[in-house]
Amino acid sequence: MHLARFPRRRYTHGFTPIEFMPQLSEYLAGPNLYIKRDDLLGLAAGGNKTRKLEFLVADALAQGADSLITVGAVQSNHCRLTLAAAVKEGLKCQLVLEERVPNSYSKDASGNNFLFRLLGAEKIAVFPSGTNLQAEMQKLADELAEQGRKAYLIPGGGSNKLGGLGYVSCAEEILEQTFDLGLKLDNIICSSGSGGTHSGLLTGLIGNNANITLTGISTRAKSEPQIAKIHKLSNEIANLLELSTDIKEKDIIVYDDYVGDGYSLPTDSMIEAVTLFAQLEGILLDPVYTGKTAAGLIDLLRKGHFKKDDNVLFVHTGGSPALFAYQDYFTDL
Ligand SMILES: *Cc1c(COP(=O)(O)O)cnc(C)c1O
Repeated sequence: MHLARFPRRRYTHGFTPIEFMPQLSEYLAGPNLYIKRDDLLGLAAGGNKTRKLEFLVADALAQGADSLITVGAVQSNHCRLTLAAAVKEGLKCQLVLEERVPNSYSKDASGNNFLFRLLGAEKIAVFPSGTNLQAEMQKLADELAEQGRKAYLIPGGGSNKLGGLGYVSCAEEILEQTFDLGLKLDNIICSSGSGGTHSGLLTGLIGNNANITLTGISTRAKSEPQIAKIHKLSNEIANLLELSTDIKEKDIIVYDDYVGDGYSLPTDSMIEAVTLFAQLEGILLDPVYTGKTAAGLIDLLRKGHFKKDDNVLFVHTGGSPALFAYQDYFTDL
């Protein structure tokens, strides 16, 4: 694969670390657990959207845009990072926020919501779940066009084929690092939300014939529609890269058992996972994505899903600023 064909901005210096988690591995008496620290990616407070934005913002600049418009939930890490990328590039940024949980938006909320204002969003428009958000983004773009400005629309989570290239590059990074470390991976675990992370990693691993099992933990959707989404997006990415192999449905693994009552709503297993990572490894997860994904990893491990000498890599996709909006759920500390 020749990723350098695609224009890219650089927001991170070098690779993010792969670290062994000795205390957590021992506590869970499980396989060897490693973590890919994509929470340490560049832009304000890091996280997986930074990799996607490297390709998306390069495209926006190539098209002569002066503004970015994107969409996300009320505590969206993606909105925070799109805004940070816009600030860094001297662009304006407008956000369309979706109340996936009714009445969940509060102007004064902490976490990412506070950072939207601190980073200087030009406009924040909030809509109930079920609104046609693409149409709302387009309306904002049309308003800017009337003022002679030019907006570039970024889909939710930055998850289209161009954004997905960010996680193809992450797969290549992981293969290069593990080769360097002499570390043979058996399993990689990631969150599966808007799907760019899961799809990009899958396409990158299959495109390199890596033969590493990739497991996605859903943070919102049921497995069946999530698998269909990953199938479609990973093949779009594969086509963009002119890969000779198709990505097949049987290559896609999604577990939907860790969503709980719904997207972004806390679960006991999320709280356990966030607490274990913090107190055994000093690593901050987030309540919406990586906490639930780690809960999936821990549950699969306890159910005997992995072999004792397996090497398992957990992809930390970031999100810790959202923790500060969930403090009230951590009552037993
Ligand atoms: C967006 C997000 C995810 C999910 O990634 P997708 O590419 O949308 O599937 C996982 N973790 C964090 C912290 C996120 O912000």
